[in-house]
Amino acid sequence: MYTSKLADMGIFIHRNRNLRGGIKPHLSVRFRSDEGKIKTFAVDTSRTTSKEGEPDLYLITHAHSDHFGKSAMISQNSVCTEETARALEIRYKREFLGKKVGINDSFLIKGVNVKTCPVYHTAGSNAFFWENENGVRILVTGDVKEASDLPKCDVLITEANYGDPNEPSCYFNDDLENIKRIIYENIGYNKIAFGAYDFGKSQKVVEILRYIGYKGPIAMNKITYALTSEFVENAGDLVPINVKERMSTKKAADISIVPPNKLTAVGSNFKKYVLTCRDIYPYPSIRISDHLDVRGLDEMVKKCSPEVTITYHPNTGDRPEKYAQHLRTKGYDAFSLSEIKNIL
Ligand SMILES: [Zn+2]
Ligand SMILES: [Zn+2]
Repeated sequence: MYTSKLADMGIFIHRNRNLRGGIKPHLSVRFRSDEGKIKTFAVDTSRTTSKEGEPDLYLITHAHSDHFGKSAMISQNSVCTEETARALEIRYKREFLGKKVGINDSFLIKGVNVKTCPVYHTAGSNAFFWENENGVRILVTGDVKEASDLPKCDVLITEANYGDPNEPSCYFNDDLENIKRIIYENIGYNKIAFGAYDFGKSQKVVEILRYIGYKGPIAMNKITYALTSEFVENAGDLVPINVKERMSTKKAADISIVPPNKLTAVGSNFKKYVLTCRDIYPYPSIRISDHLDVRGLDEMVKKCSPEVTITYHPNTGDRPEKYAQHLRTKGYDAFSLSEIKNIL
């Protein structure tokens, strides 16, 4: 779909097959640089062997596992921000071998001038922006919490994690009041366990708890502790714990943060909550998101005013399709990852 329009712009969007015959995650953008050379930038995908032919560049937008930095980080052709590289190294205990850049940075790489802009999704998360030889502007956002620093573009490659306009859970505002109420009602009476992912959401909870004035210790597993100490300024008293050991002691901190799938292992003396906008857990959810909701995605598209939008994430489920369809009904040209027919 719209491939002739993209071809006129000098852009070829494709996906790659892996060695097992499946399709590698996400997509790649092929274009000509100012020097007229053909370049391929792979977006949030896993590494290809040199036998298969590597892309010129692996863009890693942030350190969440579904963006495959764990795999691409050991290629010298990868690029991400310094913070994303540190987060990948902490999470995966291997050295990042690619190029590290700043946020709001501009750098020449493989003969292409690439800019980075913040998207406020996790520590280090960023969008990549560049132009091809025709001056066509390409913007790859990764996951986005806040689109205010994104530029106008011609081709927008973006996420649609909450992109289903007919799904009530795709409309939300961050619910700080709810966290305040939970703290007020429980501290001194009950211990609290917040279910939150190690990277991103956990740092956000700590920032919110400190912001609303909670000064006590906050316990978390060792990886979360390492990431939070690294990325949250003024994180206060953090206690690294072994989740299983802590469950058997009575000396737990008043507040603990554990991965959502570990909440069931937490003792019944804890009040349990999950920080999520998805209704998939058997615990009360607190609507705190590190993504735009469907209205925010609409505002981003309007602001960036692309000729063509490609929704490439999440990798599974039908939200990219639903959001691309929604954009088409609003008069935009848009298609999703699953509609990409160029599989190399
Ligand atoms: Zn993410
Ligand atoms: Zn993601």
